[in-house]
Amino acid sequence: MAEKTLNPFEIVQKQVFDACQALGTDPAVYEILKEPQRTLEVSIPVRMDDGSIKSFLGYRAQHNDALGPTKGGIRFHPNVYMDEVKALAMWMTFKCAVLGLPYGGAKGAVKCDPKSMSQGEIERLSRGYMRAISQIVGPEKDIPAPDVYTNPQIMAWMADEFSKMREKNVFGIITGKPLIMGGSAGRNSATARGCVFTIVQAAKRLGIDLNGARVVVQGFGNAGSFAAELMAQLGSKIIAVNDSKGAAVNPKGLDPKAVKEFKAKTGTVKGFPGSCDASNDEVLTMDCEILIPAALENQITSQNAAQVKAKIIGEAANGPTTPEADEILAKNGVLVIPDILANAGGVTVSYFEWVQNLQNFYWTEEEVNSRLERMMVAAFDAVYDMHVEKKVKMRDAAYMRAVARVAEAMKVRGWL
Ligand code: GLU
Repeated sequence: MAEKTLNPFEIVQKQVFDACQALGTDPAVYEILKEPQRTLEVSIPVRMDDGSIKSFLGYRAQHNDALGPTKGGIRFHPNVYMDEVKALAMWMTFKCAVLGLPYGGAKGAVKCDPKSMSQGEIERLSRGYMRAISQIVGPEKDIPAPDVYTNPQIMAWMADEFSKMREKNVFGIITGKPLIMGGSAGRNSATARGCVFTIVQAAKRLGIDLNGARVVVQGFGNAGSFAAELMAQLGSKIIAVNDSKGAAVNPKGLDPKAVKEFKAKTGTVKGFPGSCDASNDEVLTMDCEILIPAALENQITSQNAAQVKAKIIGEAANGPTTPEADEILAKNGVLVIPDILANAGGVTVSYFEWVQNLQNFYWTEEEVNSRLERMMVAAFDAVYDMHVEKKVKMRDAAYMRAVARVAEAMKVRGWL
């Protein structure tokens, strides 16, 4: 049980330390990478609908900008804390580096429960958060984006607030915006699409036919719901999905679009007609070929990893697998496509959005998706080949590739 309470910041520090050891880097590399370059904690007073003022804690962590301005989403969640934000910022550095994006990593969060707030309260909180962090963000400094429980509307309010402060439109301040105000075609489904591209590559390497393959999706938010739809389009059978309130299980296969509509109406996938409920652990350990964890950190742990039956895990979430679980999965021959590779489609299309904003020249969805596919496949192949050649886990290979890039940039910049 102790492992479940593992601090994600300590986990990512160890991942980076191990990668530095494996690469034999200068000790200065880990010395610099072990902590974010900058963290900011703010208190955001918000006028609530009942007239009272409530203060919310907000965070932004900027881990490393050796490769370019820092980049990473903003999470609204009642349980967030600084070490989690720091870990998520570090993961962004290595995610961008694995994909070869010209970005460093950052992450932001507000400790709040958006499900219990009105739209007006969420708007005032979003604008207040942007005002509070405005000194340290900017299109050439640090570019936020959506994450858990934030969405294009929230990005629009934040971009509008920043633009008002600068007295001009600054669409490049944030990505994941609605199309009408400088968003990119394909951004909404990008995390899932990128994840599915890596699963397709992994299935090819392992000789698994995705047509008819059984897929389980844990978490049915933005990434999870699109991942289910895209896998179904490949002919896979979505046998279970869940969310924080329960599950929808149907061995004959679920229609992800219908589940999405059901959840939009009821607030959960639980109770979807023709399905039955299951616990989170039952969902994760269900008999299937493909498991897509698309919720939060520390879900596949030393407690349940040995029962996981999937052949491929595509980590659409950040940090869903603990290090101990990783070892167990590797021993059992499960191929884990690590988060910093599997879910990098979101930030990759965020990069495309930012490029489009800076150029004021917009691409079609086909252009976005085909460029995304090219980048995801190239990154997957590089990581997979290293995994085979060096006989290391996919995660270790991904970190080695990422850390080597950041270390090289720091070296030429004269930081080492
Ligand atoms: N929040 C997403 C992630 O964890 C996207 C970040 C971005 O687009 O900058 O990768």
